[in-house]
Amino acid sequence: MRHDDQRRHLQTGELLFRTGDPGHEAYLVESGTIEIFLERADGNSVVARLGPDDLFGEMALVGDQTRTASARAIEPTDLIVITHGTLGEQMSRAAPVLRHLLRVTLNRCRDSLRWLQNSDADVQPATASGTDAPETQDRDLAITRLRTEQHLREALRQNQLELHFQPIVRLESGRTTGFEALLRWRRPDGTLVPPSDFIWVAEDSDLIVDIGRWIIDEAAASLQRFNTARACADDERPFCSINLSPRQFEDPGLFSAIASALQRHDLQARQLRLEITESMILTNFEATRALLERCRALGCPLLIDDFGTGYSSLSYLYQLPVDALKLDRAFVIDAESEPRAAVVIGVIAELAAQLGMYSVIEGIESQNQLEICRQRGVDYGQGYLFSKPLPFDAAMAVLGNGD
Ligand code: C2E
Ligand code: CA
Ligand code: CA
Repeated sequence: MRHDDQRRHLQTGELLFRTGDPGHEAYLVESGTIEIFLERADGNSVVARLGPDDLFGEMALVGDQTRTASARAIEPTDLIVITHGTLGEQMSRAAPVLRHLLRVTLNRCRDSLRWLQNSDADVQPATASGTDAPETQDRDLAITRLRTEQHLREALRQNQLELHFQPIVRLESGRTTGFEALLRWRRPDGTLVPPSDFIWVAEDSDLIVDIGRWIIDEAAASLQRFNTARACADDERPFCSINLSPRQFEDPGLFSAIASALQRHDLQARQLRLEITESMILTNFEATRALLERCRALGCPLLIDDFGTGYSSLSYLYQLPVDALKLDRAFVIDAESEPRAAVVIGVIAELAAQLGMYSVIEGIESQNQLEICRQRGVDYGQGYLFSKPLPFDAAMAVLGNGD
């Protein structure tokens, strides 16, 4: 066998590996034919014949296991070597659910091959090597992911999702003028699950589209209830910010869902604010621009959430129809101990003002932080100092506080 790091050349009849050999490589057939066979007590049994473009040897490679079958060339054959490093890199980039599925499938194949090889032997289920083994972590993540997705589907059907409303205060006047709607999942036992435990699952599947539609409708219905419960001038009607996920922008019905919610609930478009993150803009700039322009045409204000924490590409600020910059909590946290963080807050507030936008800052927890943000010219604030996110009735009670 001619041998270099990337290739193998085998003569007719030459063995590449045998059952039980360590499996550090997989192969891609360039030319020729490889026969995979089992060596049984009653003679060899051929499992597969592989030709150009076929991949083999991956089972042992992925699981870091020994070979479950033997391979030989039945004519002069050229192979490309796929190393553990190459495959490992691909695997590490794949979603944990896919990695887990791959391992489960490969383990089942290995068990079947062992059984075929010696049908009298007990087939031992493949076990992970320890609780810290990557395969155990993948399995746990994959199972959590699959289970949460299923439970979340049921939660949506059974009305277990709720919106809580965190007051947003006009810093100059101290008055609550609107809310950010934040998703919660109330389990049948009454416990409230925070979005960090499940949003990633919804965003990683198409569920976020259905949940996103529900959020739009629920936020619009709540705004209508805020409107009717508290008589106020048209231009003083409260607003509600909702968070949009990148996946929702792939939903061709997003725009009409927003338009229809505004109409059904008799809202001014300016009352429904849409929060998107920088990373969302940068992943698909043109598509996002088209959608944002349609939202803008409706009159819904657009906010950049978590502004300043991602890889800021400032050019989108004048290329996209953005109405406000929402500064991340990280700036407020740092501002008390690091005067330069307060300077950055001021510069971003000024940038927003110069661009005809307004600024919002989140995560204000102390009077001192509030003072810093106010002095630095931030327009709106949100944080535990004012209020945590509240269920609808409690939110209604604080509306207009500071009048
Ligand atoms: P976000 O959009 O940046 O929301 C702000 C988060 O900061 C909220 O956490 C809020 O409760 C929290 N927060 C506000 N003020 C303070 C404060 O003073 N101190 C501290 N420690 N935290 C504060 P929450 O509700 O757990 O939401 C976390 C994230 O989950 C949100 O971050 C957002 O990315 C996502 N999320 C929440 N609701 C939705 C939703 O309806 N749709 C989508 N797509 N994502 C959502
Ligand atoms: Ca937000
Ligand atoms: Ca945020």
